[in-house]
Amino acid sequence: STSSIGGSVSTESALSFDPSNMGDLLIDRDTLRKQWLSLTLPKPKMSSALQAAVGRTYESLCEEQPIGRKLFQQFLLASNPQYMVTTEFLEELSDWSFAEGEAREKAKQSILAKFCQPESRSFLFYLTGEAAERCKDVTDKNFDEVMLGQIREATKDFLRGRPFSEYLKSPFYYRFLQWKEYEKQRITDRYFYELRPLGKGGFGEVCAVQVKHTGHMYACKKLDKRRLKKKGEERMALMEKQILEQVNSLFIVNLAYAYDNKTHLCLVMDLMNGGDLSFHIYELGERGIRMERVVYYMAQIITGLLHLHSMDIVYRDMKPENVLLDAKGQCRLSDFGLAVELPKHKTICRKVSAGTPGYMAPEILRQEYYRTSVDWWALGCSFYEMVAARLPFKDFKEKVQNEEVTRRILEDECKFEHKHFDAPTKDIISRFLKKKVIHRLGCQDDDPRNHVFFKSINFRRLEAGLVEPPWVPKSNVVYARDMDKFRHTSEVENIMFEGKDETFFKQFSTGAVSIQWQKEMIDSGMFDELNNPKLNGYGCESVWE
Ligand code: ADP
Ligand code: MG
Ligand code: MG
Repeated sequence: STSSIGGSVSTESALSFDPSNMGDLLIDRDTLRKQWLSLTLPKPKMSSALQAAVGRTYESLCEEQPIGRKLFQQFLLASNPQYMVTTEFLEELSDWSFAEGEAREKAKQSILAKFCQPESRSFLFYLTGEAAERCKDVTDKNFDEVMLGQIREATKDFLRGRPFSEYLKSPFYYRFLQWKEYEKQRITDRYFYELRPLGKGGFGEVCAVQVKHTGHMYACKKLDKRRLKKKGEERMALMEKQILEQVNSLFIVNLAYAYDNKTHLCLVMDLMNGGDLSFHIYELGERGIRMERVVYYMAQIITGLLHLHSMDIVYRDMKPENVLLDAKGQCRLSDFGLAVELPKHKTICRKVSAGTPGYMAPEILRQEYYRTSVDWWALGCSFYEMVAARLPFKDFKEKVQNEEVTRRILEDECKFEHKHFDAPTKDIISRFLKKKVIHRLGCQDDDPRNHVFFKSINFRRLEAGLVEPPWVPKSNVVYARDMDKFRHTSEVENIMFEGKDETFFKQFSTGAVSIQWQKEMIDSGMFDELNNPKLNGYGCESVWE
């Protein structure tokens, strides 16, 4: 039947609706609400409480984890209203740093008046010693990132001290542990509705899925276990999962869940339904991408790459096909099947040829040692391709041997014949396409974001997701090549699993990824619903199971 999911949402009825029809999936909030009411948070086990406590810092518990952050804020408010000054100050400071023009000036004056005058009610009372002096000395003139940054740090030092240790003994932290217990639930296929296919990868299909109890939509990349084993790619799959779960960036597809079923390993990630950039370059109207969009995408891609590199991760598969757009028109890097973590302290990759022909850097082709430089080269190629709708060393649809492309990459100068190459564009691309690593943009102590090509971009706002996309995908268009071919991949026969395979599947299937899962709980309203009854300060007994 194709009945909608109203009424009782048992697993059986959920499984019987037609997954190819997206229209069925607009779950009404009332149904969700009914489900939630029957849910209560689990009691944390003593063992998980200890686990959560060991090695957990103020940063992780009260800043990075979204639910931890919320509960810490609630604690501050309930335990000592004066503590709220810290929150107000940090919020206004962050508003100021993202604001532009008049709004920025207004934010600055407000901070000066409220937090820096000893006679003000919201004076930062907790500052001591040097920090206190500095705060009183802030004026219209010396108000800048450095000065305020120091006060911000002093504020965090304060929170890290007494408030944090009081928090750890409060019912709010107990509630946090309950959420952590809930976060650890086992994830199976039954957690999701499966919707339409989105694409096909080397080891299986990627399809849209929806979390049953929150309504949140994701993309699920399925990797066929037998196919992986046959090709000996298990380690690669694990690497892809481990890299994805570490990153947390607006410009990289983030992993929300990793789980398995009988036949597949599944990576549940941000849903990107605006198509990949190669589709936008070649398949929509006039070939190439408008310059205003190129600037925006490049700024986002570079920010994503810098995030990866800061974690010593080399992407190794930079190309337009791997950059996906979401429904709002923001882009993210995806497909981390080739990414590697550089060994700590030893900052060099082994000589492994990896990447896509046409995007491979000279140092890879010459089989030299390399680090992150290869990503900047491939970025130069992708940049060129977005403007000219061809690669720098291979024309559109040109029939040419890989050996010849290699020769051109190693020997030829790149030409800029397309009409859309203006001076700054030519300059920045040719800097990324320097054959010698020491001359290449991004490979020394230089920052590609400072290039004049990006003069219209405020990177601070971009990183906070505050810059509007220049182009928004239409909601009724499927931005992908022919969908029919996606279903029905042939079965792999004669593959049996042993103990070590099961161990590997277990290692892969770690369930929910903290930050993404907690965001989903908050965004869907689940957090507010389940967090009742409200905690009122102290006196609540902690009960351990
Ligand atoms: P493979 O590593 O096997 O190449 P990919 O990760 O590139 O697999 O995924 C295959 C295809 O699935 C992509 O080309 C894209 O069309 C689609 N796809 C992958 N991830 C997403 C996502 N997060 N959102 C939407 N579509 C996706
Ligand atoms: Mg791919
Ligand atoms: Mg891949």
